[in-house]
Amino acid sequence: MLAALLIAPGRLEVKEVPDPVCPQGGLIVKVKACGICTSDVKMSKKGHRALVYPRILGHEVSGVVEESNNEQFKEGDRVQLAPGLRCGDCIACKRRADNQCKSRGIFGFTHDGGFAEYVAVPLEGPVMGSLNPLAEGLSFEQAALAEPVACCINAQELAGFLPEDSALIIGGGPMGYLHALLARLKGAERIMVSEINQRRRELALKTECRIIDAKTEDLFHVVTEETKGRGVDALILACSEVGLNESLLKLLAPRGRVSLFSGVPADVSQVRLDLNFVHYGEIRIVGSYGSTATHNAEAIRMISSGELSVEGLVTNIVDLDRIWEGLEYTASRKGMKTVVEV
Ligand SMILES: [Zn+2]
Ligand SMILES: [Zn+2]
Repeated sequence: MLAALLIAPGRLEVKEVPDPVCPQGGLIVKVKACGICTSDVKMSKKGHRALVYPRILGHEVSGVVEESNNEQFKEGDRVQLAPGLRCGDCIACKRRADNQCKSRGIFGFTHDGGFAEYVAVPLEGPVMGSLNPLAEGLSFEQAALAEPVACCINAQELAGFLPEDSALIIGGGPMGYLHALLARLKGAERIMVSEINQRRRELALKTECRIIDAKTEDLFHVVTEETKGRGVDALILACSEVGLNESLLKLLAPRGRVSLFSGVPADVSQVRLDLNFVHYGEIRIVGSYGSTATHNAEAIRMISSGELSVEGLVTNIVDLDRIWEGLEYTASRKGMKTVVEV
């Protein structure tokens, strides 16, 4: 099959590789669409300390069952692939926090992923994947967006989103965009999105939120105005270059919550915190990483029911053999989401 194989950091080659073998109790999915995530850009350029080469990246996958050794699925079923593999047996798995499973595997990371014609999905054994059937009419492209949506669901759940919350999202890329849409669904009253890239600000207008240009507007001033001096209830950091700092913390209302949604480089990862501000304001700071099988199923449900409209989020589509263009587009931040169509 044709696959984009990461041979070493910076060396991604689209080439013929042997077809995967259908796992016992599992299946082979013929990939139709696979979203490009910023983590794919980072890994393809700089690698990752836990990555074993060669590896096929891609964890936002939808496709059609090609071969099945599992009675739950048959050839021809249209599916979305949740990226996590879990043991199903540890405390994390039993608490439905399978994204923290101690034996966790991830497609496009520990297992070959979706930047290929086929992907092997184990559904039994030491690590198990999960698949969500697609409703008729749901496109593969939209189904591939379920994974990023699932990550946002996880973050907002952990941040204890409440109806009538006000929210400030730092970063108006694809993830910030999805956070804004989800926050609205959760009943958030005032939603602000701060983004420095002009093109992304224009695209984010579609969310009908207050879009802030942090280069020319004062964040503190806007938040004060929009929340009538109360501050924001939820602050979501969805930009891989912005860490939590004291001026951001000061934007929070009492009982405000901070979601550390994006991973950040080492130089912004270490912060100074006024613990008394956290103490008196009853502030919560909560991380989130990836999503669980349950979040993926919920994301698919929200997208197929039309509850969450992801229309307009995909601004670039590339073929597998032009994957570099998609990765460059993602790195350039000139649009929103790229999906590889296989
Ligand atoms: Zn992703
Ligand atoms: Zn587990």
